[in-house]
Amino acid sequence: MPSIKCSVTECSYNKEVECFAPMIQVARDGNLSNAQNSDNTKCETFKPKG
Ligand code: SF4
Repeated sequence: MPSIKCSVTECSYNKEVECFAPMIQVARDGNLSNAQNSDNTKCETFKPKG
């Protein structure tokens, strides 16, 4: 897995602003069928720290 910098530090896979999930899934946000910019995408692997 290439390094993924991620500032979502409240995710359980995040350690020092880096992602340590074995893989991540990214999808379009909401019901969009065609993303226009990065704001239209989201990480579906996010899991809150608990
Ligand atoms: S799973 Fe997604 S939100 Fe969580 S650290 Fe990795 S890239 Fe960031």
